[in-house]
Amino acid sequence: MKYVHNGFLYIFDKKSSDGSKKMWQCKRKDQQCKARLHSNAFTGELVRVVGNYTHDSDAARIEVIRTVNILKRRVTDTTEGTAQVINNCIGNLTQAAQGQLPMLESLKKVVRRRRNQVQAPPPMPATLQDLRIPQEYQLYEYQPGLFEPFLLAALEGQMDNILLFSRNTNLDLLERSKKWYIDGVTHFATTKSDRDVI
Ligand SMILES: [Zn+2]
Repeated sequence: MKYVHNGFLYIFDKKSSDGSKKMWQCKRKDQQCKARLHSNAFTGELVRVVGNYTHDSDAARIEVIRTVNILKRRVTDTTEGTAQVINNCIGNLTQAAQGQLPMLESLKKVVRRRRNQVQAPPPMPATLQDLRIPQEYQLYEYQPGLFEPFLLAALEGQMDNILLFSRNTNLDLLERSKKWYIDGVTHFATTKSDRDVI
């Protein structure tokens, strides 16, 4: 028989003398751990934990991995500074998980590396034929992890390429509008490939 509490695994030891409680001991005897747990013998509910753990739970490790993934996600989704994004992610960690967190410096490295990946622009194409729109520029992330098309059309002509960036929801708006006001911005473009992109 096993009992799981906060990511710690217990094995059954014995019942209390009056039979109302079950006594469990922490499975990690290899760590000389003396932590014990009492549960209600009838409902299985936790009564109390006795003693301290000499080790971290597996749950803590899982929690840390999950937190680092949330951290990476948050770097992508927000413009928060390095310290702020870390504080926002590790603030709610359990004490066990905080004990297993990587050092602050390596968390900062995770944030910086991620931010560089996210913000690195694609190289300027030398010729029109070299122009490839990377996948992440072709999609619009309207909710974390949910994407819709953003590059709606890529038409290759003899002289010019036409790239149409929009969301379908924006096209719906246009379709339902009586008046359209149109502006041209191509005069901002300085090189040929800029014009091609705009
Ligand atoms: Zn233990």
